[in-house]
Amino acid sequence: MEKKNVARKKILRYMLERESTTKTELASRLNLSMPTVLSNISELTELGLVSEVGETASTGGRKARRIALNPTYCYGLGVDITAHHVGMVLVDLGGNVADWQRLRFDFQPDMAYCRELSMKIQEFYRDKVTEDKILGIGVSLPGIIQEDSVLSKSHALNLENYSLKLMEQFLPFPVYFENDANGAMLAENPGQRGDAVYLSLNNTLGGAVCIDGKLFTGIQKRAGEFGHMLLHPGGKKCYCGKSGCADAYCAASVLTKGGEYSLDAFMNSLCSDKDNQQLWEEYLENLAILISNIRMVFDTDIILGGDVGGYLKDYMVELGEKVFRYNLFDMDVSYLKNCRYQREASAVGVAKYFFEKWISRM
Ligand SMILES: [Zn+2]
Repeated sequence: MEKKNVARKKILRYMLERESTTKTELASRLNLSMPTVLSNISELTELGLVSEVGETASTGGRKARRIALNPTYCYGLGVDITAHHVGMVLVDLGGNVADWQRLRFDFQPDMAYCRELSMKIQEFYRDKVTEDKILGIGVSLPGIIQEDSVLSKSHALNLENYSLKLMEQFLPFPVYFENDANGAMLAENPGQRGDAVYLSLNNTLGGAVCIDGKLFTGIQKRAGEFGHMLLHPGGKKCYCGKSGCADAYCAASVLTKGGEYSLDAFMNSLCSDKDNQQLWEEYLENLAILISNIRMVFDTDIILGGDVGGYLKDYMVELGEKVFRYNLFDMDVSYLKNCRYQREASAVGVAKYFFEKWISRM
């Protein structure tokens, strides 16, 4: 019986990170016998968890039926808390964002905030899905979160050693708290990627490291704080107190002059505004230095996410050329990847966390 559960978990994990697969692929990729795959898929189909989604293109022989997890079988909720906003997503078992919402909502470290947050979340999901289908609520926050649900430091929320237990009590499902950049990494199917680094280019710069499909958080949960690596000693002042940190050169706020206008407005201005073109050029140059430093340390794919990451898709050639000049070890820059979710990636990742949890309990 235990052996069967192991095979089932392997199959579900594999399918969770892929759009669709075939029984033959499951057997060969997971090193399982065909009878084991067939009996498991037949049981999972009976439970309504797996269904057929089409056929593979014929290569002359018999077409193989493609199977996938039934996306509406269960859902995860994700909530991203920032100083002035809350983002909410409902993610289905297929990893699709079934719905999302972003509201202006100023953070306060008190009970009234927790109560209102809980109400906003319930309003968000109530008419979309029944509660029995929701596995849990993931909450991503801009700060360092310890295992005992203590936010040990958040510059953005101006907090130190703040217990998240109160917030947990107000939320109607099991809760998982995670740092926002780690959350965004979780959205990228880490199990499928193996080793990877996520660079989150938001108003502050964050990062996450994934080794062998698992988040690597470091002893004090500070791994991946790429924003405070020195890029230019004695350079621009960083909010952390040092001068010359990568954050002061590569955060989105560099482009929006600290929120003077929107990032969208900045990117749109690039076709005509000479000053902004110059600023963008410098930004890409600094980003290239940071990227080549990270690549030297980890030698893995680097996923470009966050607000700026969403726009970089159109500038990969320019960025690639600059990175190439700083790194003479690589023959190409195919290790640079665009993020999978351009909107609410952190919330999506902490929502998806519950699918893995759910499989491990099976
Ligand atoms: Zn700094």
